[in-house]
Amino acid sequence: MNRQNNNQNSEQNDNFFNENPLLAFGIFILIMVILFKMFMGDANLEGVMGDPRIKRVEQVKYSDIKELIKKREVKSVKITSTMIEATDLTGTKKYIAKNVPAYDMEFIPLLEDNNITYEGQVGEGPVARYVNMLLPIFIILAIWLFLAKKMSKGMGGILGAGRADKLISSERPDVKFDDVQGVQEAKDEVLEIVDFLKFPERYIELGAKIPKGLLLVGPPGTGKTLLAKAVAGEAEVPFFSVSGSSFMEMFVGVGASRVRDLFEQAKKVAPSIVFIDEIDAIGKSRASNAQMGGHSEQEQTLNQLLAEMDGFGTDTPVIVLAATNRPETLDAALLRAGRFDRQVLVDKPDFAGRLAILKVHSKDVKLADDVDMETVAKQTAGMAGADLANIINEAALLSGRRNKKKIEQAELLEAIERAFVGLERKNRKISDIEKNIVAYHESGHALMAELTKGATRVTKVSIIPRGLGALGYTLHLPDDEDRFLKRKYELMAEIDVLLGGRAAEEVFLGEISTGAGNDLDRATAILKDMISVYGMSDVAGLMVLSRSQSSFLGGGMVSNDYSEEMAQKIDQSIKNTLNERYEYVKKTLREYAGAIENMAEVLLDVEVIEGDTVQEIIIAFEKENGMESRMAHLKESEDS
Ligand code: ADP
Ligand code: ZN
Repeated sequence: MNRQNNNQNSEQNDNFFNENPLLAFGIFILIMVILFKMFMGDANLEGVMGDPRIKRVEQVKYSDIKELIKKREVKSVKITSTMIEATDLTGTKKYIAKNVPAYDMEFIPLLEDNNITYEGQVGEGPVARYVNMLLPIFIILAIWLFLAKKMSKGMGGILGAGRADKLISSERPDVKFDDVQGVQEAKDEVLEIVDFLKFPERYIELGAKIPKGLLLVGPPGTGKTLLAKAVAGEAEVPFFSVSGSSFMEMFVGVGASRVRDLFEQAKKVAPSIVFIDEIDAIGKSRASNAQMGGHSEQEQTLNQLLAEMDGFGTDTPVIVLAATNRPETLDAALLRAGRFDRQVLVDKPDFAGRLAILKVHSKDVKLADDVDMETVAKQTAGMAGADLANIINEAALLSGRRNKKKIEQAELLEAIERAFVGLERKNRKISDIEKNIVAYHESGHALMAELTKGATRVTKVSIIPRGLGALGYTLHLPDDEDRFLKRKYELMAEIDVLLGGRAAEEVFLGEISTGAGNDLDRATAILKDMISVYGMSDVAGLMVLSRSQSSFLGGGMVSNDYSEEMAQKIDQSIKNTLNERYEYVKKTLREYAGAIENMAEVLLDVEVIEGDTVQEIIIAFEKENGMESRMAHLKESEDS
């Protein structure tokens, strides 16, 4: 949902062609047409020369032609802007004189006196000559402008290299705080900025120091940009936004001049807000850059930014908001007092937050009566605001395609599923042999999920290929509140479920496939974390062995500081545990062989089964064989 209208880009006309690509293109085409015509004109002339009757062409001086005319050795003459051609009496030979004097008043009378037929070329005369001279220049210019425009899309332009006009977008957003949900703490933090922007005099008179910079920190899509816009929207001030990565140019110094420009514009219309997205692109710690050979462009840009922020006093009501999801990489200089000395966490929303965000985004769509947003909010644990907005939109698209008048719950749930596992790829052909493998593999996961205490229950099992890699999947949607802690037995349960796929292949098909690669990878990672991060093993005890330096995305650097000996022990322990669990899982699958066979059969038949069906199959099998039910959730409810 895009709520920004009145987008008033601050353009200068030196970038005229950049701003009017269509016009530039039109002019370009026009010039090409003129050029084409010109050449065609010349081509006609060549055509005469290529006349089959002409046997010889001789280049002569202008004076020679005049001489020939006087001697009456010429039948006809053609005068063009660049040359004069004379055809001899037999019509088989042609004399051509280039370098023709511009003003020879005698020439035409000479032709007439000698009764020689002559013709001229259109566009004759001095004006035409100048045009002819200038045309190539125009053409080159047009091509250049055209290319420059094209390139400017990719990297900021050659023409306007120093100007940030195109990259800085200025608007007066009508986003309000009510549009941003699920980030109450962050909203509270920025509230005082709104007041300052609205009534700067009050604060200035008091001599209060207002923060100049505020860093919004959080994972992508949580609404950092939206919040910054809402600040501008609430305060009704202009909002200048630019992305940190757009400062990184191939020419040194360009970024710095853009920063200067940005602040110049913002100060002109203060009070205003400057928003720098992805500030880590310029604000990367200089120390970390030095390792990589340094980057003087980035350093200059960063220095300029620091200079600008130091440059205006606390009485200039320009506030710089910046966003990043990697605060730990930022240069310390950026975080110093008087710069981005305040950090505000914009985190992923909890249940109530998700519900509120879903409501905001479903304001403008038509919902059927059966829609239950609470269920949607429950099933989207871990998603950011942008994902939620996307789910509503995806559901609307689905409903449209199905020609429904309103969005129903089914579409919402399907949209969630898509978000988790990607698009169904019904067209992708998989062989029956592979289908068989996938059916057993997924049945193995599903059975373990149902029988293991602490595992999330199965919502759906499918053997329809999805997304990029998955040939099938077992979907477990968290059905309770947000979870911030995982207990040890839950992690172990996750490992058992992950091993279920491979184990089923081995037990029921006698052959293992590459399909379990991802499962094993994840199982290994869980065990490694249990040992080295969470202190849940005998190997390292409570000692933490690796420290992830990034709090978001998990993409930060991991530093391992332990001995080679410890490393070996960890590896051995992971391997042993995996083997142990694998044997246990295989044993369980053998005990439930009939259930797996049934499940795989149904799957091969209908391709997708719901969690309820999985549970029914297992319970029916247990009853048939007089077994006491091991269904985890049944046991759990007995326990409590
Ligand atoms: P970020 O800047 O943190 O990456 P954005 O602000 O660009 O995220 O979010 C993208 C879109 O997702 C927003 O325009 C909005 O539609 C939606 N969105 C994200 N977070 C929220 C939120 N907290 N409340 C409402 N909508 C949100
Ligand atoms: Zn699997």
